[in-house]
Amino acid sequence: SNTRYLKVRISAIGDDRYAMFIGDMSEQRRFEAMRRDFMTNVSHELKTPAGAISLLAETIGDAADDPDAVRYFAGRVSKESTRLTELVHRLIDLQKAQDATGVLDAKRLSVLAVARNAIAENQVQADGRHIELDLSFEGKPVPTVAPEADGAEESAGTDTDSPDVHVSCDEEAITTAVKNLIENAIHYSPEHTTVRIAVATKDDGSKVAIRVIDQGIGIPPESIDRIFERFYRVDPARSRQTGGTGLGLAITKHCVADCGGTVSVWSHEGEGSTFTIELPTVK
Ligand code: ADP
Repeated sequence: SNTRYLKVRISAIGDDRYAMFIGDMSEQRRFEAMRRDFMTNVSHELKTPAGAISLLAETIGDAADDPDAVRYFAGRVSKESTRLTELVHRLIDLQKAQDATGVLDAKRLSVLAVARNAIAENQVQADGRHIELDLSFEGKPVPTVAPEADGAEESAGTDTDSPDVHVSCDEEAITTAVKNLIENAIHYSPEHTTVRIAVATKDDGSKVAIRVIDQGIGIPPESIDRIFERFYRVDPARSRQTGGTGLGLAITKHCVADCGGTVSVWSHEGEGSTFTIELPTVK
């Protein structure tokens, strides 16, 4: 029926429009297919922990007179429900980042303050895995905690005299983007390694690169083009084990795009990965 419709269009409006029309149709179909895939993924990802929770709850009922078994299964219920909650939060983040274009609250922000806040949000997980988080600016080490920030969360809008670089972004979007990259670097690295967060200006200061460099497992070449897709994981089992949802990088990509920047990756299996966010700077 599509073919017949197209023929009618040709006779009505001519060849140029015909080409455009086909383009639109396939674009529309591609979009529909992506939406269907996404919904299939979402339902699958939600069903897995939800199904586990109901099974585990039944098992607890059956094991009522064995306190050790009850404790064990209750622990697993708790883990699966955490997973479910994490997934729902991530879906909301993704929705926000995807819909944000143009309605973001762009402010002049200190990149080092953004990096420090993103580091602070990952410090507990890093300590738990004996991973050191190092921050540098223009190749020189800088403290991960601002001297004047006495415990309170640092506002990325604050100005100090120390060397820094500024961008115009939505604070939540850019912090989420950097936070997700650091979180992955920790998840996909062995214990007792270092994750470096290197901030450096380029192109005469008109741009800034925020690099998150790990000494982790790396990404196989055949997967590197796909890791920013929603729900794509190189190793789904490992990702689930570390609490991954497969949405982190998709969220990062949208957040960075909302700030007018790009994100790219370099990786070597077994050596590590470097994710780079590039943003235009402001004075
Ligand atoms: P997840 O929640 O699974 O970590 P992401 O969207 O954040 O989802 O990442 C997608 C996939 O990319 C991960 O499952 C992992 O296979 C790979 N990946 C992301 N960051 C790294 C990294 N720093 N080192 C190795 N692999 C990574």
